[in-house]
Amino acid sequence: MSKPKLALYWASSCGGCEIAVLSLHEKILDVAAAFDIVFWPCVMDFKYADVEAMEDGEIDVCLFNGAIRNDENAHLAHLLRKKSKVLVAFGACAFGGSMPGLANFADREQIFDFVYKESPSTVNPDGVVPQKISNVDEGELTLPTFWNTVKTLAQVVPVDYYLPGCPPEASSIEIAVNAIVTGQLPPPGSVIGPEVTVCDECSRTKSEKKIKRFYRPQEIIPNDEECLLEQGLFCAGIATRAGCGALCPSVGMGCRGCYGPNEGVIDHGAKLLTGIASVLDANTPEEVDAILDTLPDPAGYFYRFHLPDSLLRRKARKNGQKLIESAAEPA
Ligand code: SF4
Ligand code: SF4
Ligand code: SF4
Repeated sequence: MSKPKLALYWASSCGGCEIAVLSLHEKILDVAAAFDIVFWPCVMDFKYADVEAMEDGEIDVCLFNGAIRNDENAHLAHLLRKKSKVLVAFGACAFGGSMPGLANFADREQIFDFVYKESPSTVNPDGVVPQKISNVDEGELTLPTFWNTVKTLAQVVPVDYYLPGCPPEASSIEIAVNAIVTGQLPPPGSVIGPEVTVCDECSRTKSEKKIKRFYRPQEIIPNDEECLLEQGLFCAGIATRAGCGALCPSVGMGCRGCYGPNEGVIDHGAKLLTGIASVLDANTPEEVDAILDTLPDPAGYFYRFHLPDSLLRRKARKNGQKLIESAAEPA
């Protein structure tokens, strides 16, 4: 009997989700035994034409990681959607936009100006920036159009399941793979993972939280028993989906929120902000400001993994102007 076909793809991704699949260690052999891997450009030499030549729906499961940042990412999202029966947004970038999505605090022009002209390490006296088409002796070279707004996978094509994490922990991947192999998948549209929060998985002792100030990780050595938030370390575990085994708090680091919002939450950052606001030990707006002054980059702390799929989505555009440069980029 032929095996189900599996595809893995990275769009705007750091590659960590690909490494996470390899962190299954010897269980990767079970994946190889259970599936025919028909597309995995990070690991084997596949061409886009190989996918284009497939029948629609020929791929049984596609694990798609990375956000949608440019025309090429979108093209592959549409192509793999068409060719796959089940499309999984794999990891925080595909699910919520994650770190690439923090670029939504700027637009394409601001990003290009900084990266190619203004950053302290850039030497570019002629102000050269990448062009969509360049003619060289060997012929015409093309680059995909870089979008103004980073999108999640679900903002571009319909998604069947979401596997959170930056990257998803091996245990989460195993649960997802087992569910796929045995056909015991949750209802379409579900996030594959527990419905409780990281706090529920965290073994640190919890008591009433009253925060007088925040500390950066390098500023204190937290004790091994008490809740890190109660010790003044920012911890997003109060509003983040469980599934990682409270990995970061278990080694003295506050959760950064990579498993995203827990069940029923629309805006991860807003939920986190509400949770943190409720534990500030302040009686006046001035005292609130003083405490928040000890938390650098609040937008990055609250929206690190889910800005593109939040209610904010991106920084407001000048005069409400829509900066769309490619027919492939949805509004
Ligand atoms: S979710 Fe994290 S590990 Fe995966 S591609 Fe995005 S940044 Fe990298
Ligand atoms: S350390 Fe973080 S995850 Fe653990 S109980 Fe405190 S807030 Fe929750
Ligand atoms: S503790 Fe938080 S940041 Fe760390 S792996 Fe778990 S969800 Fe991600």
